[in-house]
Amino acid sequence: MNVDENRAKELIREGICPVCGTKLKHQEGCTECIMCGWSQCGEA
Ligand SMILES: [Zn+2]
Repeated sequence: MNVDENRAKELIREGICPVCGTKLKHQEGCTECIMCGWSQCGEA
């Protein structure tokens, strides 16, 4: 696991998009960014 991935996971856990830094939106097991379209499902 590289450092960037680690940092991205922390950001995601805090509800922040790892790509653009916008607040993430949560819905039914998925997390998504309305700004850049980044999304992730499954992993909390
Ligand atoms: Zn984003």
